[in-house]
Amino acid sequence: MKQTKKVDSQYDVIFVGAGLGSLSAASMIAQKGKKVLVVDKHNIPGGYATNFSRKDFDFDVSLHSFDGVVKGGDSYKVIELTGVADKVEFLSHKTLYHFQQGDIDIKAKHRDIEDYKNQLFHYFPEEKDNIIRLFKEADKNYKDMCGFLFAKLPFWLRFLATPFFFKRILKYENDTVDSFFSRFTQNERLKAVLSAQWSYYGLPAKDLAFGYFSYPFIDYLRNGGYSIKGGSQKLSDALVEVIESNGGTVLLSSPVTDIIVNEKGRVEGIESKRSGVVSADKVVCNISPHAVVSLVGKDKFKPRFHTKLEAQKMSISGFQVYLGLDCNLADLGVKEDEYIRFFAPMLSQREQFECLQKGEVFDGKTGWSINYFSNVDDTLCAPGKSSLGLFTLIGSIDWHSLSKMEYREKKQQLTQMLIDKAAEQIPNLKDHIVVCEAGSPRTMTKFTNNPGGSIYGFEQNLKQSGLFRRFPQKYPIKGLYQVGAYTFPGAGFIGTMLSGKTLVDRYF
Ligand SMILES: Cc1cc2nc3c(=O)[nH]c(=O)nc-3n(C[C@H](O)[C@H](O)[C@H](O)COP(=O)(O)OP(=O)(O)OC[C@H]3O[C@@H](n4cnc5c(N)ncnc54)[C@H](O)[C@@H]3O)c2cc1C
Repeated sequence: MKQTKKVDSQYDVIFVGAGLGSLSAASMIAQKGKKVLVVDKHNIPGGYATNFSRKDFDFDVSLHSFDGVVKGGDSYKVIELTGVADKVEFLSHKTLYHFQQGDIDIKAKHRDIEDYKNQLFHYFPEEKDNIIRLFKEADKNYKDMCGFLFAKLPFWLRFLATPFFFKRILKYENDTVDSFFSRFTQNERLKAVLSAQWSYYGLPAKDLAFGYFSYPFIDYLRNGGYSIKGGSQKLSDALVEVIESNGGTVLLSSPVTDIIVNEKGRVEGIESKRSGVVSADKVVCNISPHAVVSLVGKDKFKPRFHTKLEAQKMSISGFQVYLGLDCNLADLGVKEDEYIRFFAPMLSQREQFECLQKGEVFDGKTGWSINYFSNVDDTLCAPGKSSLGLFTLIGSIDWHSLSKMEYREKKQQLTQMLIDKAAEQIPNLKDHIVVCEAGSPRTMTKFTNNPGGSIYGFEQNLKQSGLFRRFPQKYPIKGLYQVGAYTFPGAGFIGTMLSGKTLVDRYF
């Protein structure tokens, strides 16, 4: 996208990076009448929330499932606040997910939590009362979270009100997903089933912070999972439209090379390739905090800040294969109500995670998933054709240091392994592949600059999650802020859009 945009010399707020966190916050601030500039290095907006095309196929880079964006639902309020409700269409997933592990085969249907619970009762009859109690409390906790996130009160008042009105946020702030579940059941198998979607959060239930997981856990089951018609690029483009129609500017293909901080320790603006120096009193960063430090200058931060930043653990990366087929999914026997299928081996999530970190995938050691894209959105390819995605989490280990040849080989090898796995589920799949593309940890870094190809910002463990422990949205430099996956509440489409809302509620 070649742009010839006029950039002024002064803005109220400048955003570095045009991922969902930035675009959401910028759209809200622009609607309040502030003059905003969003600058990204890529030639399309959205960060991970983008599309790419190959031949007759359009692929969504990242979105597997967007939780809760149904009119009337809490998550949908973010869509309304960002001004895109009439610009994007959400397509519901008939099956939220289909989970297979050994003899357990569960299909969570769209917005049918009672049916889901009944399936759990079927596999764990002796746990029925515990399951009922668990969901009762998880529902109440979800309400507390929504209360905190969406209350029409000043942010500081919400903080003060938390121990009285949203008390479960504090009650469970030291719980992992596993320790929350353990309050109700000791059945390890049941706990693994309840956290079947753990790959969405990038950590096993024993390490994943309940405070982060608990919102989408219930939001997915109660309000459903969705794709964006036409792919997530449509959402990113719609956010750009809102920003620009409210007087803002989104400048692409323009890496930010400097964040300017004066001798008094106050932000003054940025410099980017196509804009030159631009001034603003406030700069919001949507890039990794490590990159922020190097753009600002290491010496501008106290040693304590560096120690804190260095201690932060990055989330795991992922490997995604995108396939274009010359036939309909139904021709290959894929049922039309299928959307995402998780395949899990009979191994604990922690054991799987350790293997994934080391790059030891499959061989009965690690889980993976299929997304039948065309079963939800047939606008992404020509009639008579279809597309699907294959995904595994994977550690970044040596991906970034391989030579070009080694990298190509490794990428091809893993692509082939995923296709072989998928072909066990979909006979004749291989005869119909006409487009095959893959995104590795190295691809993730190439397009977003996220270190190690991290797909979820900082890992969502107990030490790094929640209202008080997530990486702060305000830097110890006047006028400098952070938004997106690295900060509260965390990664994901709804997570990063909520980080935009939280930033605006608290500081703008
Ligand atoms: C394969 C995959 C699958 C996923 N599946 C799901 C899912 O099903 N559901 C879900 O909710 N979430 C999912 N996610 C996570 C979700 O996509 C991310 O959490 C979210 O999009 C991250 O948004 P962000 O605001 O943190 O910014 P990012 O997307 O990280 O964007 C950062 C932006 O900063 C720009 N940038 C970097 N350096 C500079 C610089 N120097 N100058 C200018 N610009 C710069 C980059 O170009 C980029 O546009 C998935 C992610 C991946 C990769």
